[in-house]
Amino acid sequence: MFRTRFAPSPTGRLHLGHAASAFAVWDAARAAGGEVCLRIEDIDQTRCRAPFEAAILEDLAWLGLDWTGTVRRQSDHFDDYTTVLNDLRARELVYRCFLTRREIAARLPAGADPDEGGLVSHPLTPEDEAARLARGQPFAWRLSLDAARRALGDRFGALTYRQWTPDGVQVVPARPERFGDVVLARKDTPTSYHLACCHDDALQGITDIVRGEDLHAVTGIHALLQALMDWPRPTYRFHPLILGPDGKKLSKRFGSKTLLDYRAEGMTPDNIRAMTRA
Ligand code: GLU
Repeated sequence: MFRTRFAPSPTGRLHLGHAASAFAVWDAARAAGGEVCLRIEDIDQTRCRAPFEAAILEDLAWLGLDWTGTVRRQSDHFDDYTTVLNDLRARELVYRCFLTRREIAARLPAGADPDEGGLVSHPLTPEDEAARLARGQPFAWRLSLDAARRALGDRFGALTYRQWTPDGVQVVPARPERFGDVVLARKDTPTSYHLACCHDDALQGITDIVRGEDLHAVTGIHALLQALMDWPRPTYRFHPLILGPDGKKLSKRFGSKTLLDYRAEGMTPDNIRAMTRA
């Protein structure tokens, strides 16, 4: 049974970009005779707000998009993610990284993202680590590519995921190494997007993931996590993003018009659908 999910983060009202994504998800499910789960990805408690979650449900209902089962709110399940992190810790697949963003940026090529930009393991002595912990220094839990390579052996270099294309499903190389050691959690944050997302995809029995082209590259990291945790591997498909007049991704943060604004102007869900196709 084809089972997909829509996984918005409640950091603002939904805009046209979200509507396009939601239509892509629901259309794929409908075409396959499958179902859609709804997941609220609100692990970043500094940016997510409960009223925006209610607004998401309201906007989806207005668009005529219905989901199966109960809504999974990630912030209700931090313990689940801690369990995964503890498993990875027990297998020495993650390590504490105390470097500041500035220190990391100095080690990386210009313009690289300090969270995902190619940093690789920099072991500390146990004494140094203990001293930093005693000082209460903040740290990130990073997934060690070296350790993952050792754990998976030949499977590491051969990691792939299935990707749906108009010509059918293709098997593409995951190449997780291009991101370096990604952050999976932080001292006071039990999970990152990668860990929570892959855990929930497995838990919710997601067979197919439909999401924006902007998440294409990180899918390689997800394939690695799935292999390390022995989670099933969904098939992925990526939809194009709707770009703003400046050619950049529409984002709530840049004040793009919300679905509620369009609704207030008298637009219908069909008008919204037509706009997402334009
Ligand atoms: N929460 C993510 C977002 O709002 C989507 C994650 C995903 O589809 O994997 O962009």
